[in-house]
Amino acid sequence: MLGMKILVTNDDGIFAPELWVLVKELQNVAQVAVVAPDREQSAIGTAVTLRRPLRVHSLNSVIAGVEAYSVEGTPADSVILALGKLVKDKIDLVISGINPGPNLGDNVLLSGTVGAALQGYQHGISSLAISVGAPDNRYLDNAAKLATVLARKIDSGGLPGGIFLNVNLPARPLTEIREIEITEVASKAHADTVEVEDGGRRKYYWLIRRQVGKDTHKKTDVGAIERGNISITPLHANLFRKPFSVPDSLCSDLLKELQSMGGS
Ligand code: MN
Repeated sequence: MLGMKILVTNDDGIFAPELWVLVKELQNVAQVAVVAPDREQSAIGTAVTLRRPLRVHSLNSVIAGVEAYSVEGTPADSVILALGKLVKDKIDLVISGINPGPNLGDNVLLSGTVGAALQGYQHGISSLAISVGAPDNRYLDNAAKLATVLARKIDSGGLPGGIFLNVNLPARPLTEIREIEITEVASKAHADTVEVEDGGRRKYYWLIRRQVGKDTHKKTDVGAIERGNISITPLHANLFRKPFSVPDSLCSDLLKELQSMGGS
């Protein structure tokens, strides 16, 4: 099993504690390499740096046995560099996260977490993004454990070609989660407003993005989190097709297996 090699990245930067919670858990089932931006890059989406060179720093001593590099670029840059040059072994799976805060609905188009997973997928590698709806770092261990279960299942059965996964956990204890729902992306889940701040000689403009979608009755990612369940959304980059379905082998007994691992 430890022959599996997982690349971990995170849009909150290489020093985000959430990244290392995930790495420590994944080390139980795989070899792990970390390539991530040198600073926080939330909401950078799929951005790729093409007009300047990228500096890379080796940080191999953070956790023993984990090769790690920080990149002066975006999460997507980090995945491209990892796959193209930095990590010598073949990567079996790309995991982007854990993001503290959900990535739901139309926010998947802005998310640096999802943007990094998209790069893995576009390079033909099984990929997933994982986020928790709690901004205060609670329940990170649940997300790390779920990523580990998914990694094991993907290693034995693989993800079908054509999709990658956006995984979101609710901010609640594992014992209170009843279901893992396979969902669709909620549309029009957010609205943008602009607030103006008077800075004296000049004005400053803040873009404020709020979730507006109430999808309680729908089979969407927003609806699943509102119901207190875990959401797994199959995503793809073929913009003219509905998401492919997720195979039963990946999802059957997933919640039972996760709860048996004893998270928070
Ligand atoms: Mn983030």
